[in-house]
Amino acid sequence: MQSLASKALLQKYNTSGPRYTSYPTAPMWQDSYNAAAHEKTIRDTNQPLGSNPHPLSLYVHLPFCESRCLFCGCNVVITQQRDQAEKYLGYLFKEMETIANWMDRSRPVVQFHWGGGTPTYLSEEQMARLFKFQTELFQLAPGAEVAIEVDPRVTTPAQIELLKELGFNRISLGVQDFNPQVQEAIHRIQPLDMTAATTEHCRQLGFEGLNFDLIYGLPHQSVESFEKTVRDVIQLSPDRIALYSYAHVPWLSPHQNQIPEAALPESETKFNILQTAQQMLTEAGYLYIGMDHFAKPTDELSLALQSGNLHRNFMGYTVQHGNLPSDLYGFGVSAISGLQGQFAQNWRKLSQYYEAIEAGRIATMRGYELSAEDRLRQAVILAILCPGKISYTDFQQRFDVDFKSHFADAFPKLEDMAADGLVELAETGLIVTPLGRLFSRNIAMPFDAYLPQLSGDKPTFSKTV
Ligand code: SF4
Repeated sequence: MQSLASKALLQKYNTSGPRYTSYPTAPMWQDSYNAAAHEKTIRDTNQPLGSNPHPLSLYVHLPFCESRCLFCGCNVVITQQRDQAEKYLGYLFKEMETIANWMDRSRPVVQFHWGGGTPTYLSEEQMARLFKFQTELFQLAPGAEVAIEVDPRVTTPAQIELLKELGFNRISLGVQDFNPQVQEAIHRIQPLDMTAATTEHCRQLGFEGLNFDLIYGLPHQSVESFEKTVRDVIQLSPDRIALYSYAHVPWLSPHQNQIPEAALPESETKFNILQTAQQMLTEAGYLYIGMDHFAKPTDELSLALQSGNLHRNFMGYTVQHGNLPSDLYGFGVSAISGLQGQFAQNWRKLSQYYEAIEAGRIATMRGYELSAEDRLRQAVILAILCPGKISYTDFQQRFDVDFKSHFADAFPKLEDMAADGLVELAETGLIVTPLGRLFSRNIAMPFDAYLPQLSGDKPTFSKTV
């Protein structure tokens, strides 16, 4: 796919930096954007009825897990007490109902996602009830992506059959790595046979989309060991593969202290694992979508990359349906919403989430209202991460700015990256090279106006490679 990056290049660019699932990034969001502010945003963007042409994406966070995987950076609640899930659903229904009452509910839902945690921690009856509740409140568009994250260790065949019956069409399986030594070190024992059986069952039932999530940079991984995992993955043939970089941030996720640092691959090995995996996947026919995603050429993400409809939000790369990005409504503890120009995040602790809902409020903990300058920079960063190119004329037309003079500060860094082969700078625009796509976070960073404020003793973000 591309030549191996040199060690010197790796050392130069392997700094800490955001993954840019949002711009401005979450550490810049403010407490002053509270529940009242978010209520106003929701009401304003849904009035008068029929005036908001943006479709909807719905995300529900189901935080419960039976045990903790040591690498995990998600907001989870580890419990064996199943009645906790029933209590949570009560609050979730109340939150959804309150928000739906402020919305134009005829807006089509093009993306519907249950994430976690472990969504299949819910019983079949609870899953059916939640799905019914949501689809009675909101209108699923024909052809909507209806997706769920599934942990093969705890998901029963009957649950998968129910998901198919309800109308789910995309299943994301958490895989990480098939190597037993790695699995032991991350406290996630999930033999290849188990993942293969779930995959086979989903195929037999006719799910349209099957995703695998893999992680590189885990303890005991080597290029050779991960090659074997990738060979097994290719054999199982998922439609999409997310290949995430392990973010070792024990100061933010203290349970990661249980991972022996000495067993973590050096950054050069980690990068070689990434490049080898990329090469194997592209040789097997997968297209590199960007940053951490691969898809078969026939998959919607690949088609979106080619047609210019690729988008990026809190759920990673997504397909934009129609001309406009959807408004994302996140429900549940810690869930994030992104409505044109505003971000909001719910309380991260279950007790705080419950307290807000009990008090008759929505559960917004913090948020952000983008300025015109933020929107411009957000568009630049999206252009780098999605199509991988910027046309100066396009930005002149959309934002009325002279790109080169407006971002004059960024150009010395970009010129340096051009000399390193990461970007091509032309009179009319910028193109991210195949090598540069491995460093797209670094290429986006010079356009982030807030990054200088966020550097401290302990980095706020994980390493870019
Ligand atoms: S990786 Fe998945 S199953 Fe493991 S703790 Fe995180 S959310 Fe739970």
